[in-house]
Amino acid sequence: MLSFSLNPDQEEMRKVAAEFARREIEPRWREADEKAEFPLELLSLAYEQGLMGIAAPTSLGGLGLGATEEVIFTEEMAKVNPNLAVGLILQGSLAPSILWNFASQEQQQEFVPPVLRGEKILAMAITEPTAGSDVSNVRTTARRNGPDTWLLSGEKCFITLGEYAQQSLVLARTDEAEGIDGMRFFIVDTDAPGFRVKKMDMWANRPAPTSQLFLQDVEVPESRRLDAGFREIMATFNKERILVAARWLGHSQHAFSWAMEYATTREQFGKRIGDFQSIAFQFADAHVAIEAVRWLTYRAAWMWDEGLPIKDLMLDVSAAKLLSTQTAEKVSQMALHIGGGWGLVKDELPVARMAIDAFIAPVTVGSYEVQKRIIARKLGLRTE
Ligand SMILES: Cc1cc2nc3c(=O)[nH]c(=O)nc-3n(C[C@H](O)[C@H](O)[C@H](O)COP(=O)(O)OP(=O)(O)OC[C@H]3O[C@@H](n4cnc5c(N)ncnc54)[C@H](O)[C@@H]3O)c2cc1C
Repeated sequence: MLSFSLNPDQEEMRKVAAEFARREIEPRWREADEKAEFPLELLSLAYEQGLMGIAAPTSLGGLGLGATEEVIFTEEMAKVNPNLAVGLILQGSLAPSILWNFASQEQQQEFVPPVLRGEKILAMAITEPTAGSDVSNVRTTARRNGPDTWLLSGEKCFITLGEYAQQSLVLARTDEAEGIDGMRFFIVDTDAPGFRVKKMDMWANRPAPTSQLFLQDVEVPESRRLDAGFREIMATFNKERILVAARWLGHSQHAFSWAMEYATTREQFGKRIGDFQSIAFQFADAHVAIEAVRWLTYRAAWMWDEGLPIKDLMLDVSAAKLLSTQTAEKVSQMALHIGGGWGLVKDELPVARMAIDAFIAPVTVGSYEVQKRIIARKLGLRTE
């Protein structure tokens, strides 16, 4: 599907990524899920395979490709497990991209290559207990402590791979009076005095666990401050939404294939359960939704690669993210329903896990309501 518009190199990327997912993700995801531990060796394995830093500059060890190639990679990983996929794209793209887009040359050279090689983990610490969807409400403070040092204090939560990170990109308020313009990112060493990490135990997304971060007067040198804050992260969220749409596109396809396999082999009342009209029609609806997600996601990636200004691609990006996450929830619940009692047997089938994981889909990088607000505003409505 859609392959007619992919060039031979992109087709090759899909093959390499699919093979990597089969070889490295498939045998690891169950244990990662049970233990709620990310298998860190995946990062260097992906690097050796040429799958880290797909869109990162070649001068930093990346491949210098585009969002379309990142989408291909993410989709293939997520067809096997959406959570290990997100760990890989967080380290290969989302977190270091803040550095290669907004950091100084020195900061980029020091911090990006080790992350792309899988040697160091870089967390992205934006969310706080009282600043979830509303990032403008970040309360973590950075106050000057002499000309060359800052002191950071506050609390972050839901920080993916936070427990493994050597550095965290922490969004903090440098100037209360300046509102959203008074925020900056800092590259913070997680072993600095005053920095504490506590794992969050969650029902979903277990292979890419999240943490709370507590900062109490953590000293950070001026050289670790980025000239980027609220506005830059809002722009970056658009790229993240494209990759998140690809993540849930892969997940929906996995749930669909699983359900199709089951519905065409399981028989009741003397026939395949997939041949009952009420079940067959669910597959028809799911197929249409997945195809629509595929088009929206790849189109959004193409718009990004064409270099359209953010204001001209926001609506399409949010549409892809919204439909992809809605579809992932629906299709994985459909699969669970079709699995009957067997869908809930832990050792037998991964389908209950798929349905639970899909509850995360709408939450990250803007919920359903946040995406609808963006779309409605781009349509000229006020959404009050
Ligand atoms: C698995 C996972 C991984 C994450 N990883 C990271 C990470 O690495 N780094 C990081 O910084 N953050 C991370 N997050 C945080 C994530 O970005 C937030 O969870 C998200 O921004 C939503 O915030 P919240 O959970 O506090 O929900 P809230 O913002 O409190 O939202 C609760 C509900 O209210 C609704 N709502 C909010 N505002 C409006 C509105 N204006 N209109 C209508 N409804 C509204 C929402 O849609 C939602 O349904 C992660 C979260 C999860 C679950």
